[in-house]
Amino acid sequence: MSATSPAPTVVSVTGLRKSFGEREVLRGIDLDVAAGEVVCVIGPSGSGKSTLLRCVNLLEQPTSGRIDLLGVEVTDPDVDIDRVRTHVGMVFQQFNLFAHRTVLDNCTIAQRGVLRRSRAEAERVALANLERVGLADRAQAMPAQLSGGQQQRVAIARALSMDPMLMLFDEPTSALDPELVGDVLGVMRDLADAGMTMIVVTHEMAFAREVGDRVVFMDDGVVVESGPADRVIGAPTEERTRAFLQRVL
Ligand code: ADP
Ligand code: MG
Repeated sequence: MSATSPAPTVVSVTGLRKSFGEREVLRGIDLDVAAGEVVCVIGPSGSGKSTLLRCVNLLEQPTSGRIDLLGVEVTDPDVDIDRVRTHVGMVFQQFNLFAHRTVLDNCTIAQRGVLRRSRAEAERVALANLERVGLADRAQAMPAQLSGGQQQRVAIARALSMDPMLMLFDEPTSALDPELVGDVLGVMRDLADAGMTMIVVTHEMAFAREVGDRVVFMDDGVVVESGPADRVIGAPTEERTRAFLQRVL
């Protein structure tokens, strides 16, 4: 890409609404994320952050509105959802590794089954990504032999092994003992520095401020405030944002 051409939009969310029964959980969300951008989503529990991420990779069907990934409208009913989802990596609070498979297998199963890579190719890619998260030497370990932080880094390596165009993180450090949080955030920071496009739901305000290009504050199913990380966290203009930050900082 030349220095003058603007980064392409990786994900574009327009007028997104989602209801569960009578309850409208997302009430018209607009969000664009450019290639290489890191957007951190903050907000109180129940504000719709997870639902937003789950709509972006179509784990939830939006009630209305549209989502475009690299210019393709994925909310179009004719789009092959599985194919789209293949290119969006998701890392959850609970790591969801296969307990009875090795670390290496955890990172190769989807590559082989979904991307149809050969065993040799899948293992090469997996090991490169395990190296990236500092765990190449644990490739033959079982998940239970690893700390929570290491398991979460395996989950990141597994997602990266699918060559995602976008990575979604849903409170990736919330289930970890405090002393293990730093390593996972460090891996995410490296990813951001390497130019990965990321949406990160997090309660780690220092991370959001340092690594986030933009911070989006959600409350009650709407984006209340969004802007440069330093501005939103350091000098929020909305009362609701201020009140939230006062509680968590
Ligand atoms: P957050 O991640 O910000 O804590 P969520 O997106 O998980 O918020 O949830 C927003 C609201 O939607 C909550 O009130 C939650 O109870 C509700 N909700 C989430 N998923 C479902 C579901 N599958 N069925 C019914 N209600 C749900
Ligand atoms: Mg959540």
